[in-house]
Amino acid sequence: MPLKEYELEETYDPQSRFDDMKDIESEFWKKKSLEELTKKEWELLCDGCGKCCLNKLEIKGKIQFTNTYCRFFDTKSCLCKIYSHRFQKVNDCRDINIKAIREKPRWLPKTCAYILLDEGKDLPAWHPLKTKRADSVHRAGASLQGRKLINESEVEDYENYIVEWEDL
Ligand code: SF4
Ligand code: SF4
Repeated sequence: MPLKEYELEETYDPQSRFDDMKDIESEFWKKKSLEELTKKEWELLCDGCGKCCLNKLEIKGKIQFTNTYCRFFDTKSCLCKIYSHRFQKVNDCRDINIKAIREKPRWLPKTCAYILLDEGKDLPAWHPLKTKRADSVHRAGASLQGRKLINESEVEDYENYIVEWEDL
């Protein structure tokens, strides 16, 4: 998840991402292409849904999501517990960059803010950039919070956990 660099701690407040917005152009996502975004704008775009941390299978050229999650995913906050060193710890953890967003078959959920903008769509009304509330993704039921999920450490055969949620 492209949130700012941090370790997940009891004291970390996801709302802090929106504390200092004075240098951020209003509705920048409507005015710029993904290529034109600053690093801070890029990071603000992530809605914090956590769905990119689900394990997936590629079957017959199509990505199938499972309801199993990376062992470093925090199901309560939907944040990564090891964000600053995730690529060292998890071989298949992916950086969310333009190449990854445009990869086929699509492996990010269709609700992912980067996918929506790349398809010329607007952000949903619940997106934290619109509400200025980090928790609006959870309140809208758009994150993994509250869903039936299995830690990957308990999984033997991922094919048994394929899900067909509408927002994947
Ligand atoms: S799926 Fe997209 S919007 Fe959701 S957490 Fe991952 S990068 Fe952020
Ligand atoms: S290490 Fe796991 S929880 Fe962290 S960002 Fe990567 S996939 Fe998500």
